[in-house]
Order: sequence, then structure tokens, then C-alpha cells
Amino acid sequence: MEISAIVILSVTAASAVLAAVLLLDRLRRADRRSRHLSKAVNSLTDQLRQATAGLAAEKEKLNSLLSAISEGFLLVDKENKVVMFNKAVEHMFNLPPDDFIGLPLINLVRDHEIDSLVRQCLGTSHKQTATVEVDKVKHYNLTAVPLEEGAFVLVQNLSHIRHLEKVRQDFVANISHELRTPIASLKAIAETLQDGAVDNREVALDFLQRIQIEIDKLAQMVSELGELSLIESGDVPLNMKSADVAAVIERVVGRMAAQADRAGNRLEMGTPPDLPAVRIDEDRIEQVLVNLIHNAIKFTPPGGRINVSARAEKENVLVSVADTGAGIPPDDLPHIFERFYKVDKARSGGGTGLGLAIAKHIVRSHGGDVGAESEPGKGSTFTFSLPLAESRR
Ligand code: ADP
Repeated sequence: MEISAIVILSVTAASAVLAAVLLLDRLRRADRRSRHLSKAVNSLTDQLRQATAGLAAEKEKLNSLLSAISEGFLLVDKENKVVMFNKAVEHMFNLPPDDFIGLPLINLVRDHEIDSLVRQCLGTSHKQTATVEVDKVKHYNLTAVPLEEGAFVLVQNLSHIRHLEKVRQDFVANISHELRTPIASLKAIAETLQDGAVDNREVALDFLQRIQIEIDKLAQMVSELGELSLIESGDVPLNMKSADVAAVIERVVGRMAAQADRAGNRLEMGTPPDLPAVRIDEDRIEQVLVNLIHNAIKFTPPGGRINVSARAEKENVLVSVADTGAGIPPDDLPHIFERFYKVDKARSGGGTGLGLAIAKHIVRSHGGDVGAESEPGKGSTFTFSLPLAESRR
């Protein structure tokens, strides 16, 4: 082989080796870079994962906070479409389980006053407040605050406060109404006496008797009102003890037997021998029984029967006072435990309409409840529950 050929061959081989070495080096560097890159990608993925988890936890916290708030909370976008709302809004507007997100606000609130208040807030970018009445019974206080991307609406339910205001107004109106009758009678008697009746001893004595009756009525009302307000305020300390309710019934029935007798009614009791002990303030439960038996006697014509019984049921003892008297019309039945409620004023036998309200509060303060069933013309049964002294579970 010629020298020149050998030289060309070795130069070619050398440059091939050099190219291979360079390629290898470049590959090695590329591999190092790619390892760096994949490390960076991995750490970025970790950071992202942590950030997403953090965001989800924050969202969860915000959601549970919003669902725990009793005020309604709503977010709408610039077009007045629902972005989010909490549980309180669901309850206030009685929402069906539809998805309202993305729908116009009116679909959710179904009230044009609320809808236009939020529109005004979005249009003017100013906070708007209003009190809105929905369906005559629901009252809401609304505050719409503009945000960059829409508005935030706070809904406060005032229905309960309004209801309490109404109860207080009715209460005052009822008291003044109840006071008016005996006061008018007293005034009329005084005027008649002044006009000369005082000189006729017999008539004067009769009027004195009537004055006494009216004063007794007033005194009873004042005492029952005081008692009711004391029980309602929760300031009456209950002397709770384990007690045999059959013995309590027996005592009250014994005490009221003469009164039932005078009214021509039979008062009897029926309790099983193995009644479990209850946890009660005996004096207060006696008062409940007296009120119920007193009513049974008052509203049962002569020849009727009144039965006081007790039975155990689950974690309670149920005590019933049943009579064969006038009964209570179905429309009145849900109201008879309200203060001053009387089915028929003429028939109420001079009662104040407070006896059942007092009984209900006493039973409730024991952790029990009271109810009534009745059939007009056939009779009524009042039943209240008392918790057992020891749980049977
Ligand atoms: P009061 O007896 O002083 O009027 P209550 O609060 O005890 O007041 O009772 C409220 C009303 O419920 C009574 O006026 C009467 O109309 C009705 N009522 C209560 N108990 C009976 C009963 N056993 N039978 C028929 N009506 C009853």
C-alpha cells in the first residue's frame, strides 16, 4: 500500500474516533441535563401536589365554616348568576336538591325584590340593604356587597324575631282583654252601689259577694301569670328526685275526689304495680295533674268519668288524664296549650286560659312533653311523658 493511502486511512480513522468521542461526550452531557430536568420536574410536581392539597383543605375549611353559619351566604357573578351558596340559604328558601350553580339568582330566591336588590348592587357597585317579606311569614334582612367579579349577599332570617314580637304583642293584648272584663264588672257594681243599692242591705251583700268573685278571678290571673313567667324564665329551681308516679297520682286523685264528687263525676285511677321510678319535682308534677284533672272536672257534665292512668313506654312513663266530657274541636286542639287560649269563653267556667300553658312548661322543664287527643261530644285525653329515673338501656 502506498504511504499516501495509509496516511489518508489513518486520518479518516482518527477523525471517526474523534467524532465518536465528541458524540459520546455530548450524549453524556445531554443525559446529565435530562437528569437535572427530570429532578426539577419531579420537585415541581411535588410542590404542585402540596399546593393543590392545601387549596382543597382550605376550600373544605371554608365550606364547613359556611355551612355552620346560621346566616345565609350567597355569591353571584357580574351577570347575577349563582356562583355559590351555603346550607342556610338552602333551608331559608326551601330549595329542592337541584343544582343552582350558574343559574340566574331569581331561579334560586324566587323573589323579585331580592333579585332587584342584588341587580342594583351589581349595577351601582354600591352596598345595598333591605328587609324583605316573603310569603307573609318569612322576613329576611339582606345585605348585598359589590365585589370585583360580582356580589356577595348576606341573608339574615328575622322570622323568629318577628314571631316573638308578635307573641309579645298578642300577650299584652290578651292581658288587657282579660283584665277588662272583671274591671268592667267591678265598675258596674260600684256604680250600682253608689246609685242607692248600698242602702239595701240584702242587695249590698249580694254585690259584695260579686266583688269578691271578681277580685278572686283577678288574683288568680295575677298569680298564674307570675308563675308562668317564672317557669318560662327558667329561674325556678326544680327539686328533682327519683319518685313513684303512682303515689303522686294517688295523692292528687285523693285531694280532688271531693271536687269531682260535687260536680257529679267519678274520678278513678289505674296504674300497673310495676311502674319504673321517674325523676321529677313532685310538687310541680302534682300541679300539672291538678290543672289537668281540674279541667276534666270543669268540662265534663255530671254523670261523666275521669280516669287518671300511667304506663311505661321506652325511656318514659306516660301519664294520661281522660274524661268523657265536652271534648275539643279539631281546629282548637293545636292551640289549647297557648297562653289565654279558651275554646269557648262562655264555657270556660271563669278560667284564665293559662292552666295548660303552665302544665306544658312544667312538663317540658322535666324533659318530657304533653299533648291532647279529643273527640267533640265524647271526651278528651291529655297525656304527658316523664323521663325514667334510670335509663333502661
Ligand atoms: P282554663 O281552663 O283556665 O280556661 P286552660 O289553659 O287550662 O285554661 O285550658 C284552655 C282551654 O282548653 C279551656 O278554656 C278549654 O276550652 C280547653 N280545655 C282544656 N281542658 C279541657 C278538657 N278536659 N275538655 C274540654 N276542653 C278543655
